[in-house]
Amino acid sequence: MMAETHAKVKVTHLNRDAYLYVRQSTVRQVFENTESTKRQYALKQRAIALGWPLERVQVIDTDLGQSGASAADREGFKRLITEVSLGRVGVVLGLEVSRLARNCTDWHRLLELCALTDALILDEDGLYDPNDFNDRLLLGLKGTMSEAELHFLRARLQGGILNKAKRGELASPLPVGFIYDEQKRVRLDPDAQVREAITLLFQTFRRVGAAYATVGYFNRHGLLFPRRLRKGLRKGELVWGELCHSRTLQLLHNPRYAGAFVFGRTQTRKGPDGVTTYRKRPPQEWYSFVPGVHEGYISFEEYEDNQRRLQQCAHAYGSERPKSSPREGPALLQGLVICGVCGNRMTVRYHERQGSLLPEYICQRSGIEHGQPCCQRISGVTVDRVIGELLVETVTPMALEVALAVQEELSSRVNEADRLRAKQVERARYEADLASQRYKQVDPNNRLVADVLEAEWNQKLRALQEAQEECERESRKDRMRINDEERAQILALTTDFPRLWKDPHTADRDRKRMIRLLIEDVTLTRKEHIIVQVRFKGGKTATLTPAIPLPAYKTWQTADEVIAYVDQLLDDHTYGQIASLLNTQGLRSGKGNPFTATLVGNICRDYNLKSRWERLRGRGLLTLEEMTDLLEVSSSTVKVWRRHGLLKGHLYNDKHECLFEAPGADKPFKWQGRKLTKRYPLVEFVSDNMKEV
Ligand SMILES: [Zn+2]
Repeated sequence: MMAETHAKVKVTHLNRDAYLYVRQSTVRQVFENTESTKRQYALKQRAIALGWPLERVQVIDTDLGQSGASAADREGFKRLITEVSLGRVGVVLGLEVSRLARNCTDWHRLLELCALTDALILDEDGLYDPNDFNDRLLLGLKGTMSEAELHFLRARLQGGILNKAKRGELASPLPVGFIYDEQKRVRLDPDAQVREAITLLFQTFRRVGAAYATVGYFNRHGLLFPRRLRKGLRKGELVWGELCHSRTLQLLHNPRYAGAFVFGRTQTRKGPDGVTTYRKRPPQEWYSFVPGVHEGYISFEEYEDNQRRLQQCAHAYGSERPKSSPREGPALLQGLVICGVCGNRMTVRYHERQGSLLPEYICQRSGIEHGQPCCQRISGVTVDRVIGELLVETVTPMALEVALAVQEELSSRVNEADRLRAKQVERARYEADLASQRYKQVDPNNRLVADVLEAEWNQKLRALQEAQEECERESRKDRMRINDEERAQILALTTDFPRLWKDPHTADRDRKRMIRLLIEDVTLTRKEHIIVQVRFKGGKTATLTPAIPLPAYKTWQTADEVIAYVDQLLDDHTYGQIASLLNTQGLRSGKGNPFTATLVGNICRDYNLKSRWERLRGRGLLTLEEMTDLLEVSSSTVKVWRRHGLLKGHLYNDKHECLFEAPGADKPFKWQGRKLTKRYPLVEFVSDNMKEV
C-alpha cells in the first residue's frame, strides 16, 4: 500500500506546493471539537512524509466556522480552487476529503480541476490520483455519500420539527407578552405592565384604525412599549422603549396574539452569491396554522378584522402612487437623494396636476417609524430642473475631451507600469534559471554543496512567484480604474449631451441612466433656499441654491399690475368691458387663461376692490327707483329719456343697468306732443356703451 502511495507521487507533484484545507462548520465546533482540528493539522506530517518540504505545505484555514454546504461564502475554498486551477498545487490535503465540500457541484469541480492540472488528493484513508479511474470513482462516491449524509441529518432534524409544528406543539421563541410555564405551556406574561401595554396597543388600534396613528398616540402620551431581547449577553431580558411603526405592524400581523400557533410565515433562500433572502409567505402558504392553541390578547375575529383594516390602509396609500413601475416615473434623482437633515435616503412621491406627474422628494421613513410628521419635503420639479441645467452646463464636449485626455494619460501610464513590472518578473525568472543551472551542474554526491544550491534555487523560485503575483495584483488594481464599458458609455455621451438631454423624445428612463453615470448622489436641505449638494462620480462636488417654489395657489394668482389696472378701469367700465380691454392688451390671468367678466368680478371680490356700483354711488348717482321717485314718472320713461339723452346714465353691470346722474335744477318733464328727438338734450349725449371687442 505504502509503495503504491509513493508511486503516485512524482517529481512534478513535489515541485508544486501541498495545500492543507482545514474547516469546521460552526464556531462551536471550532471551540469544542478541537480533536478534529488537530487531526486536520496532523495531515501536514503525512505530506512531509511523502516528500514535501515543510515550507511548501500551505495551510488554508480561513473557513473555520463556515458550513461546507455551498462554496459561496467560503473564501478559503475559493482560494483552493484558484490555486488548483492555476496549476500550483501538487496535492490537496483534507481530513476526509469529501468534507472539503458538502455539495456535489463544488466537489466535482474540484475533482475535475485536480485531474486537469494533475494534482493529487490526500486524506486519512489514502492518496488518490483523480486521473486514475478507480480513484476518481471512489472520490466521486465519497462526495455523494457526504452530501447524502448531510441530507439525512437535516431531514431527520427537520422532520421532527415540522411534525411538531403541524400539531402546534413546537416550542418556538414567543413574542413579547407570552412566556412558557413550567409545563412548557404558553401563558400570558405575568408582568401586569407588559400585559397592559399590549392590551392598550390593540385597543388604540381598534379606536384609531391605523398603525401610524397608534404609534402617534403612544409617543404623544410618552407611553413605553416592552421588548424582549432575543440575543446577546442580556438574552431574555425585558427592555422598555419607544413604540415604532414597524413593531406595531409586527404585533398586529402576528396571529399568536390571537392565541394561534403559526409556523413557516417566512421563507429563507440562499442565492448563488451566498446572500440569504427572506420572503414573506401569504397566509395560504404558511406551513402550519393552528388557531386557539393558547390564550390570546384579542379574539381571532378581531385579528382577522385587523388584517382587513391594515390591508385597506395599504391600499389607500397605494392608490396615490402611479400605476406604472416607479422606475418609469419622471423623478430624475429617484434613488440618489439623501436628506440633508437626518441623512436618510429620501423617497419619491408623485402628485398628479392636470394630467402630468409632478415629483416630490420626501424624507418620511423615520417619521412613519416614530409616528411623527415627515422630516422634510422638497419639490422635485425645481430640483430636477436645476440638476438638468447643471448637467447641460457641466457636460460639454470640451469637458469630456479633457476628461478623456486625462484618461488616456492614465491608461498609458498603466501600460508603462506594466512594462516595468514585467521586467522585474523577467529578472527574477533569469535568476531562478541561473540557480537551477548551478544546481544541475553540481555533482549530486557532493550533498553539502547540492543542498545549499537547492535551497538557493528554491528561494529564487519563490522570489519569482512573488514577483509574478505582485505584478498581476498591481496590474489588476490599475486596470480596475478604467473599465471598457464605462469608457464606451462616456464616449457615447460626447454626442452632444445638451441636445440629447433637452430632446422631448428622450425618455425619462434614459435621462435617469445618464444621471446615474454622472452623479453619485444628491443631498437636499430645505432652508430659506433649497440647498442641492451634488456629488459627481469622479468626486467633484457642486452646490446649488434654487429658491423654494411658490405654493401652487400663489403661482395661480393674478399679477399685481393687472389688479391695479383693473382697479383703475373700474372707475369707468363694467366687468365685461374690462375683460375685453385686458384681453386686447394681451394680458392673461394667473393660470394663463383669457379674462372673462366673471373672472374680473372674482378679482374684484378677492382683492377687495370697490365695486363699480359702490364707486358710482359714491359719486352721488341715483338708482332707477330714486330717479322715478324724483321725476315722478315710470321707470320705462326714465329709460327712454336716458336713451334720448335727456338723462345721463352710467352702466354698472353688463345687463345694461344704469345709475343716473342727478338732473339738477332743470329736470326733464313730460312734454305732450313734442317728439323726443326734437327735445333739446340737457347735456351732451354720453354713452358708456363700448363695443365688445
Ligand atoms: Zn430626513
